[in-house]
Parts: sequence; C-alpha cells; structure tokens
Amino acid sequence: MGSSHDLPSHNNCCSQETGKREQLVMSRLTAHNANLRCLMWQRRLSLVDWRIKVIVARLAQLGEGTLGDCDITRVKRQAQIRLLDLRDVGGQQFHFDGESWDWELTLVHELLHLHISDCFHRGWPGAKSEAGMAAERMIDALARALLAGYRK
Ligand SMILES: [Zn+2]
Repeated sequence: MGSSHDLPSHNNCCSQETGKREQLVMSRLTAHNANLRCLMWQRRLSLVDWRIKVIVARLAQLGEGTLGDCDITRVKRQAQIRLLDLRDVGGQQFHFDGESWDWELTLVHELLHLHISDCFHRGWPGAKSEAGMAAERMIDALARALLAGYRK
C-alpha cells in the first residue's frame, strides 16, 4: 500500500510495572549499556534492519507514569527509544515499593513495538483504544516471556 505515514510516538502507553519480584543483577542504566543491550535484542528479535538509538531521559521529558517510549519512523526503519533515568524511578507514581525497575523489560517492550508498528500503518491506535490496549497486553506478555526465557 505504500503508506507514507509514520507512526507518532506512543507516549504514555508504556507505563508497565515490573510486577514480579525478579531479583536481577542488572547492569546500570546508562545510554551506553542500553544501546549495547538493544543491539543484542535486535539480533534476537530479528530487528537488525532497524537503526535504533536508545537514550536515557528524565521524568519531565517522558511524562508522569512513563518508564519508556519509542518514536518510530517506520518507513525509514528508524527509531529512538527513551528509557527513564534511574534518578527518577522509585516515586509513588510507579508503585514499585522499593523494587528495582527492570529497564531491560521496558527496552524489549519498546522493541516489540517496532514489529507491531507494521500492523498500524496509519498510526498507533492510541493507548486507550481497544486495539491499542490489546497490542499493549500482547507486547507486555511477550516481553516478559522472552526475558524469562533468556534468563533461565
Ligand atoms: Zn507500549
């Protein structure tokens, strides 16, 4: 169909919680670590045709309740993923109760958005739409299953 529409960023749709008490030895969240991790997951998820940059952003930039988001330029196979700066994690708004945030889960979540972006040529349906919520649930379930599988 050759739609030239790019997906707008889906800000605020990714406020997933860690949920499970995973005791993880995570490397510290820096742009360097996150980009290395991103490359690894790009290979695992068959997303090597995408040019992806991961940056660490403050809460004021991301918006309340957002752990990460993804700005996708689908036709160019380019994306920028933003992950919340660790200095801003742990507030009441995330309901973590002292648990550490699994930023790799958010990273994988955002990467899965790239796959599904091809299903939404006209743009992301919106976090509150039925399609948007179903897509988020699927992405969240897949991200958790993938991480659990690789961490066995
Ligand atoms: Zn999402």
